[in-house]
Amino acid sequence: MNRLLSSVLAGCAFALLATQAPAQGYPERTITIVVPFAAGGPTDTVTRLVAEAMSKDLGQQVIVENVGGAGGTLGAGQVAAAAPDGYTLLLHHIGMATSATLYRTLPYDTLNAFEYVGLVTEVPMTLVARKDFEPTDLKGLIDYVKANADTVTVANAGIGAASHLCGMMFMSAIQTALVTVPYKGTGPAMTDLLGGQVDMMCDQTTNTTKQIQGGTIKAYAVTSPQRLDVLPDVPTAEEAGLSGFQVGIWHGLYAPKGTSADIVDRLSKSLQVALKDQNVVDRFAELGTAPSPEADATPAALKAKLESEIARWKPVIDAAGQYAD
Ligand code: ASP
Repeated sequence: MNRLLSSVLAGCAFALLATQAPAQGYPERTITIVVPFAAGGPTDTVTRLVAEAMSKDLGQQVIVENVGGAGGTLGAGQVAAAAPDGYTLLLHHIGMATSATLYRTLPYDTLNAFEYVGLVTEVPMTLVARKDFEPTDLKGLIDYVKANADTVTVANAGIGAASHLCGMMFMSAIQTALVTVPYKGTGPAMTDLLGGQVDMMCDQTTNTTKQIQGGTIKAYAVTSPQRLDVLPDVPTAEEAGLSGFQVGIWHGLYAPKGTSADIVDRLSKSLQVALKDQNVVDRFAELGTAPSPEADATPAALKAKLESEIARWKPVIDAAGQYAD
């Protein structure tokens, strides 16, 4: 064999090894899940529980990195640009779909920048306010904010966040624009709500349930079709008089585009195991949510969800005509 041929063959063998090795031994080191919002918020809470259970299944540490800002698009962009080696993942919610229309430009191409691992959970929202906010029920709240639209402040986690979407739905339902205050996540927004620096927020039960139960904030409605076991005294928006005000915040786990199919498959299997973990099931229930069923914790289900949700929200966002750069 001449020298050139043998070195070409050696090169091919090396390339083959290089593409196969990561999947065979995977995972060999710590995996990072990027949460595109600040620590202490609802996405962070869900991700930390799932990461802990996946870590048990994968036999490696699974840690969470919070990359808040720009309604979740900053963190998503960071993962889109990461090495597709299975060691950097993204846990994002419905904002992945709404941002595709809300932003004129994004640092990633939503439908082509990621591999899909699976759906994680769908979380109801709650319309809440600081403890000493005057209105006592949803009807009173609507009258009050309409009369005080210039001064009532509504916290959110930036354009593209679930809290932004829910706040917009509320304002559009009552046909009144309120003053919005953006944060890097509803974790820090909750701190300000508790401190009385901001009046209201529409946020996921995974961030509000304990506070509502403890009486440290006021709740006016849940956005689920039925009342929640953990918040039996909080009416659905429908019951309280706001019809059509229903939304569920679905979450998905993604990997950068180009991550090998066997790594994605391993991660998806691990996600399915994690979603049956007793601690995950129990803690999710305490926070007013539940893990996605096994059939939804799959690449195909997440892909279908993202595509259908982009199509669902595009006309709604286009009708509102408010975009971000
Ligand atoms: N999920 C965000 C967070 O964890 C909040 C949001 O989307 O509104 O802070």
